[in-house]
Amino acid sequence: MGSLGQQKPHVVVFPYPVQGHMNPLMEFAKRLVCRNLHVTFITTERVRERMIKAQSGATVHVTSALQDIRIETISDGLSPDCEQTKDVDMVFDLFRKVGGLTLEQVIERLNSQGDTVSCIVYDSLLEWVPDIASKFNIPSAFFWTQSCAVYSIYYHFYTGMVKAKDEAGNVRDVIEIPGLPQLCQSDLPSFLQPSNTNGPLFRLVMNQFSTISQATWILGNSFDELEMAEIQSMDSLIPIRTVGPLLPSAFLDGNDPQDQEVGTNLWKAGNCIDWLNTKEASTVVYVSFGSLAVLSKEQIIEIALGLKASRHSFLWVIRPDDNKEENNNVDEFLEGFLEETVYQGLVVSWCPQMAVLSHPSVGMFVTHCGWNSTLESLSSGLPVLTITQWSDQPTNSMYIEEVWKTGIRLNKLGDGLVGRDEVEKSIKRVMESDEGLELRKNALQWKILAKKAMVKGGSSDKNIDCFIHEVIARTTLA
Ligand code: UDP
Repeated sequence: MGSLGQQKPHVVVFPYPVQGHMNPLMEFAKRLVCRNLHVTFITTERVRERMIKAQSGATVHVTSALQDIRIETISDGLSPDCEQTKDVDMVFDLFRKVGGLTLEQVIERLNSQGDTVSCIVYDSLLEWVPDIASKFNIPSAFFWTQSCAVYSIYYHFYTGMVKAKDEAGNVRDVIEIPGLPQLCQSDLPSFLQPSNTNGPLFRLVMNQFSTISQATWILGNSFDELEMAEIQSMDSLIPIRTVGPLLPSAFLDGNDPQDQEVGTNLWKAGNCIDWLNTKEASTVVYVSFGSLAVLSKEQIIEIALGLKASRHSFLWVIRPDDNKEENNNVDEFLEGFLEETVYQGLVVSWCPQMAVLSHPSVGMFVTHCGWNSTLESLSSGLPVLTITQWSDQPTNSMYIEEVWKTGIRLNKLGDGLVGRDEVEKSIKRVMESDEGLELRKNALQWKILAKKAMVKGGSSDKNIDCFIHEVIARTTLA
């Protein structure tokens, strides 16, 4: 890449330190480094240690661009004995205080070393960063890691432009938001559903918008072709520029063929590629519920029995933390299950997901519909079955079935579980019927459009260029 100017801007990229937020922001960091910017990626000491541990001995290619990204750590303020706390308010308050203080120290140090920070790209969940940025006179970019539809929904609720209840206090059956299809309550992000609107996570998601007006840029991990109406409808409110899908380049635009792995894994990936290599094209069902959801023992059993009954090969990610004591040690069940299905399936604790989704043997994806997994499924041209858990997943799942038409939502029984028969029947619908072919055809169209957005001159590529040029202009003026 050619130099964009004499003075090299220095962008600090700061995701909330969980997998689903670090991945897109690290990919964004790589795109900046490849365009000749200095980039520092911020994470916590604890997470940095996990990244190093998970990366050791990894077999998938990590781009050399990663070596050009400086990683700096800050403190989350948690003492070892409260690492596992579920007190969301406490975790966020401490991070705001101690994380904020240590972030200031990092910026001071970088500036004093002559590596003056030109811009901070911060995760929308870290609404306290713009105040720190303005202390140092640095412009900030608000980075949205979910869909633009969800951005619009939260914003309309935050401002009170849309309410879940009508004037009489009755919960509305239908929610209407400009640019979005009609939503029913169950299509809303879980934190907005009436039973949840008093919780700490509700306050947290609403709080994201409290300092947005201080941000110079608002960037989102989506692409125009995917959410045109949603994006345009926000233009008159708080416009968002799309810079995604932010995925390893080798599987999308191909600009950096070495970039096959984000490089931020928090779990060590098991080797499943050799196993996939032994399978015929489009025959494997890939099953994963992301990095946060912990499925109940009952749900794991229903999925296991549905997979087995489908008779299709499967690759299933079950993280070690799915398997805690409070989950009644599901490993006892899994042990027997794995013995019975030894010729049918493989279970790993973690995998290089984009490499798996792009593998020719994989025929479909059973997903919880985290936004990254959703984008990854669309960008790989794979049909999906959705088993949602919480957060924005119900909204993504509705879009998958009703708007993008690449998958099927699985029905939950009265106890909230997706039953084994539903799993078996739905896998067969996708793998064995014309309906499955149609879903795959639609997904392949999205794959083409996702790539088009990220190649040179594509909608997201142009937005990234535009952001960089504006950062450079400000750096030169400063
Ligand atoms: N992921 C992965 N290997 C796995 C499971 C997940 O690399 O075995 C990645 C996946 O590709 C995605 C991220 O972890 O980029 C999970 O983010 P998502 O938004 O899908 O879900 P979350 O974890 O935030 O619920």
